[in-house]
Amino acid sequence: MKKIIVSIHDVSPKYEKEIHTIVRELNKHIDKYNLLLTLNFENNWNIEKFPSFIKFIKKVINNNKKLVYHGHTHLINKRVLFYHVFKYFEFFKPKKDIVESFQDAKKRFGSYFGIQKLGFEPPVWYFPKKKSKMIFDYFQYYATKKGIYYKNKFIPSVPYLFAADTSALISKLIASLFFFRLIFDKSKTIRISIHPSDVTYKTLPKIMKKIDQLIKKGYKPAIYEDFIKK
Ligand SMILES: [Zn+2]
Repeated sequence: MKKIIVSIHDVSPKYEKEIHTIVRELNKHIDKYNLLLTLNFENNWNIEKFPSFIKFIKKVINNNKKLVYHGHTHLINKRVLFYHVFKYFEFFKPKKDIVESFQDAKKRFGSYFGIQKLGFEPPVWYFPKKKSKMIFDYFQYYATKKGIYYKNKFIPSVPYLFAADTSALISKLIASLFFFRLIFDKSKTIRISIHPSDVTYKTLPKIMKKIDQLIKKGYKPAIYEDFIKK
């Protein structure tokens, strides 16, 4: 069956206003989506210091709206093109440091939100491939731009995003490239990514339109956890 998985990226107190808007809009169109939460965005927005934000998120989540671990800092250093972006990427570190951050994530999602079983979607969809096996010691699944990896299966999927934080022209180009892939890709699962910048750059209505269109075409809303049970 054709599935559509919608995720809100970069859920953090830094973007509290934007997340409020996205949740409010999204709820008018779909009742199932993931929220990708970053624990301490840019090393500056530790959710621990924002109890009202934790409270707000707790009100949003339920059986159909699930939190996913989206890194601690989301630091990728955007100043220089590709080389530096990845040089400072937060999971580019020794295994023991990654283990520590995974353990910390598990502990904190447990204490703030009462979540024991957690999934992982690394920032910018990047995680060193050599170390990816260890993810399953801590998480039920992880998602990259190719698809969703579970312990015993892989769900290929096509990501769709507007990249609203880039210039309007590039953003349109990226969106059409993704859309082009949708036409030729045979996978039945489409993942729609919504970013706080979609509020700033007013691309949210376009995304909602896309969601409505896909549902009309027979795509069923799903979240990552849905694929575990089957
Ligand atoms: Zn992100």
